[in-house]
Amino acid sequence: MSITISGLTKRFGQTEVLRGIELGVDRGELVALLGPSGSGKTTLLKIIAGLEWPDAGRLSVEGEDWLQLAAQDRRIGFVFQHYALFPHMRVRDNIGFGLSVRPRAARPGKAAIAAKVDELLHFLQIAHLANRYPTQLSGGQRQRVALGRALAIEPRVLLLDEPFGALDAAIRRDLRRWLRGVHDATGSTTIFVTHDQEEAFELADRVVVMGAGRIEQIGHADAIHDHPASPFVARFMGATV
Ligand code: ADP
Repeated sequence: MSITISGLTKRFGQTEVLRGIELGVDRGELVALLGPSGSGKTTLLKIIAGLEWPDAGRLSVEGEDWLQLAAQDRRIGFVFQHYALFPHMRVRDNIGFGLSVRPRAARPGKAAIAAKVDELLHFLQIAHLANRYPTQLSGGQRQRVALGRALAIEPRVLLLDEPFGALDAAIRRDLRRWLRGVHDATGSTTIFVTHDQEEAFELADRVVVMGAGRIEQIGHADAIHDHPASPFVARFMGATV
């Protein structure tokens, strides 16, 4: 689904954490929000998810005004850094959870949920983990399951907030390749938050560089690297290369 954001501002008390955000995301695109800690990335993601409300501005998805829609009506898939898998549920039940709690009219039957979960387990290459509990999984495996749970509802928009942030470098690289493959196969419109340049540049179709509540530059990895649009971007690139 295409996303259009304009003039979005958000304050927490006296602090303006988003200052007039303008951003369009195309249907099926994978965009990375890249910036230092505190630049407003998570707040922007939460506003898209319906977990925070802006003070001003517009947010529409396929032309529909999402600021009029409650979070549960947006059909968002969300993956956080600290896996929110249910510890008492097996992997297959974690993945099926989002489907089993959908409104009655949209809820598939038990057999249809099981079939959908099986399909995802295979597609995500985690079928061998189906009957394990989250405590029996590595960090990387948990994030694969978390993505499975997010994808099960066939989200209109997929939001990933530093999903690999707690993992070590080698596993992050594996997961990046895996996620890019999953994205290419599903074509979900995806926004990925990270403060890791390499991750953003490898994964994303376009990178949105944020600093202090503003978008400093939007572009393809090479353009940002070779032609930083502001001293902030140049410093940030230099600081974390
Ligand atoms: P990032 O994801 O880029 O690290 P955040 O969106 O989490 O940035 O935070 C942006 C700024 O907003 C930070 O200064 C943070 O302290 C502040 N902030 C975030 N959430 C809240 C909140 N619920 N109450 C007050 N301040 C907040």
